[in-house]
Amino acid sequence: MNIPVRDELHAPWGNGDARARLYVDLAALRDNYRRYCTATSARVSAVVKADAYGLGFRPVVDTLYEAGCRMFFVAFTAEGVALRKHLRDVDIYVLSPLVGVESQVLLRFGLTPCLYDLDGVDAWLVATREANMTMPVVLHVESGINRLGMPEDEVRALCSDPRRRRGLHVALLMSHLACADDPASVRNAKQLQRFESLRRLFPGVPGSLSNSAGVFLGRDYHFDVVRVGIGLYGHDPHYRVTAPRVRPVVRFEAPLAQIKRLRVGEAVGYGAAFVSREDQQIGVVLAGYADGVDRRTYDPQAWPPMHVSLGGVRVRVLGRISMDMTTVDLSALSGRRVLVGDAVEFFGAAIPVEEVAEHLHTIPYELFTRIGSRVVRVYDV
Ligand SMILES: *Cc1c(COP(=O)(O)O)cnc(C)c1O
Repeated sequence: MNIPVRDELHAPWGNGDARARLYVDLAALRDNYRRYCTATSARVSAVVKADAYGLGFRPVVDTLYEAGCRMFFVAFTAEGVALRKHLRDVDIYVLSPLVGVESQVLLRFGLTPCLYDLDGVDAWLVATREANMTMPVVLHVESGINRLGMPEDEVRALCSDPRRRRGLHVALLMSHLACADDPASVRNAKQLQRFESLRRLFPGVPGSLSNSAGVFLGRDYHFDVVRVGIGLYGHDPHYRVTAPRVRPVVRFEAPLAQIKRLRVGEAVGYGAAFVSREDQQIGVVLAGYADGVDRRTYDPQAWPPMHVSLGGVRVRVLGRISMDMTTVDLSALSGRRVLVGDAVEFFGAAIPVEEVAEHLHTIPYELFTRIGSRVVRVYDV
């Protein structure tokens, strides 16, 4: 095997910055938003929490705004403030407010809290009275996931208390599905039923139950607003059971920095976790766990091993993932031209993000949101 090395040029990677890159296809993002708009007659809001799932909130939000989106959900009040400073004429909903602590900020920046308990309701009533303001809220009711969400007894207590009920301008009744990614789960219909019964306590108030996966459970689940996150970012939560209904949006790449020969018995990386059984060539790639390459990517016991792609050819990862580096087996590239500076794809077009997520016993959401802050986001329009 003889792989030519042209390491004086490092040409393929280009542009004077060797850090890993997250390419974000904004045209695909826009297209995915439109696909959701076609799939439902409900209003399609975008969930842009956690820096738009790690993709970078400004370009994502601008793209969605251009596509017509005017309703955004974030997790934290501070995320809502950043979004408000960027866009004035949109509705911003905070999913996880701590109203007792944050009501002033919510009011000041015109952010709508999703209230999930009576303490929050009371804190909001006090804050709005003191500020002499009326502001709509979302009431987030529990229907079976048992995370944030107002338990049914509190919802009924709220409804039978005229002081609280009249003081509160409920603009949306929402709940969240636990098993929407599994269309066969009987829990979906149970949650739908509980949500419908709670809705009867709020006649005329619009409803919202579905996330990205819920939209694909059918029209019964749509109500008036759907809250779409991961689907916009290119992962179809039902990928196991159907052809993807959204386009991939992200590609994670890092450059090949060194190519070296190993003789039989030589070890690679910390702990000498990989020992070669034959003469072979390996490549050292400039992305490690600080960039979001999970350290569990290499597990000497796991089969099949995790793969990355070099010029469309799948090559396996070998040796412990370090903070800044990943080592890969170049045997599959025998006879091809491989250059220092070549791009190595960890997930994207050649390696589906779903494959990496399954290998790591996790979900694409976690992979996206764990892309390191030093990784350069590159936006393709
Ligand atoms: C994160 C979140 C969403 C978006 O979920 P996706 O599966 O990414 O579409 C919707 N609703 C709530 C309450 C959330 O926390």
